[in-house]
Amino acid sequence: MPNLSFVSPTRNSPWGTYLSQIDAVEPYLGKLARWVETLRRPKRALIVDIPIELDNGSIAHFEGYRVQHSLTRGPGKGGVRYHPDVTLEEVMALSAWMTIKNAAVNLPYGGAKGGIRLDPKALSLKELEKVTRRYTSEIGIIIGPQQDIPAPDVNTNGQIMAWMMDTYSMNTGATATGVVTGKPIALGGSLGRVQATGRGVFVIGREAMRRLHIDMEGARIAVQGFGNVGSIAAKLFAANGAKVVAVQDHTGTILNESGFDMQNLLDHVAATGGVGGFKGGDAIANDDFWKVKSDVLIPAALEGQINKERAEGLQTRLVLEGANGPTTPDGDAVLADRGIVVVPDVIANSGGVTVSYFEWVQDFSSFFWTEDEINVRLDKIITGAFKHIWDTSEIHRTSLRTAAFVVACTRVLEARVERGLYP
Ligand code: GLU
Repeated sequence: MPNLSFVSPTRNSPWGTYLSQIDAVEPYLGKLARWVETLRRPKRALIVDIPIELDNGSIAHFEGYRVQHSLTRGPGKGGVRYHPDVTLEEVMALSAWMTIKNAAVNLPYGGAKGGIRLDPKALSLKELEKVTRRYTSEIGIIIGPQQDIPAPDVNTNGQIMAWMMDTYSMNTGATATGVVTGKPIALGGSLGRVQATGRGVFVIGREAMRRLHIDMEGARIAVQGFGNVGSIAAKLFAANGAKVVAVQDHTGTILNESGFDMQNLLDHVAATGGVGGFKGGDAIANDDFWKVKSDVLIPAALEGQINKERAEGLQTRLVLEGANGPTTPDGDAVLADRGIVVVPDVIANSGGVTVSYFEWVQDFSSFFWTEDEINVRLDKIITGAFKHIWDTSEIHRTSLRTAAFVVACTRVLEARVERGLYP
């Protein structure tokens, strides 16, 4: 592991996971391997203090980050996450995965990510607004429509993007819609952006299933995480003939062998905040989720979920990574041994950032596309990227993850060589 003094990754921690993925791609980079060390270090990492006055009059401090892993192929791009477990190491890994994702899909961006360590459920709306505005102001020295463009991620949404856009615009003295994506439609947001990550998971799943000869009709789908990504993906799979048989979120795990009635489940989640207590299925123990028989398993929650032990027990044919970094290196090795195909995060969940790119382009041209145009272009771009990765995995006889890294790292390092080392 490179000698970075500010983090101590372990093999299966997020940054450790990313580094092992870089180790795996290195043999396939040919002459470009000379430059690979550049991918093992973030270009720039900013740690900010965010003090706010709480509703009860006391002062609270939060720690926030914005990491720009690479700016080689274009401005930084990647979401902002609010979660009690956010650390610099995690945000570094997430920013690096954005570099790989953007290059794998050939979007003209580097990679970046941000986060604040906080529990959003413990804050009032007013407190959340204050944290968001102060954070935006603090990272304002490195973000901008041409520099680095944040977007939603875990526990952030259009409202938070609206506050970010407003704060940046107030500080710079001009309305800058292109500084963030995932905004409300009224502020220059794009149609289809909210659904885009889940839609992309479905589109890539459909492509992978076709190649693996898994029939969509009646296919058994298990989903971990029923937020913006998992719920939309599940809905699209069900609408196309598959059966969503198991769902797990922070409120519990539910099972229905004949497939959930998706509308009832979505209504229940909208009313109660989670899948727990849903009457249209049986509650099962959380650990048993990993043993449910399925054709496609979609981890769409957080990192590090499919570890060695869980990978040994999985009864599925295809893992479709809706979350970023859900499989540890040890878990990945077990899945490869067992012949379970993994479609990696950097392509499986790339629909979100692809429509973010559309949003950014629309903001620059002040000309907005129809939802149909968005969805058709999204499908075409990520289907093409998936095909390229699939073909690369056949040429090199590697996993899809290593193939995605071959495609992406080659693009990043070729750009690096063309630009040259300064000074
Ligand atoms: N947070 C999403 C991701 O992990 C989207 C990022 C973006 O749209 O910039 O890909």
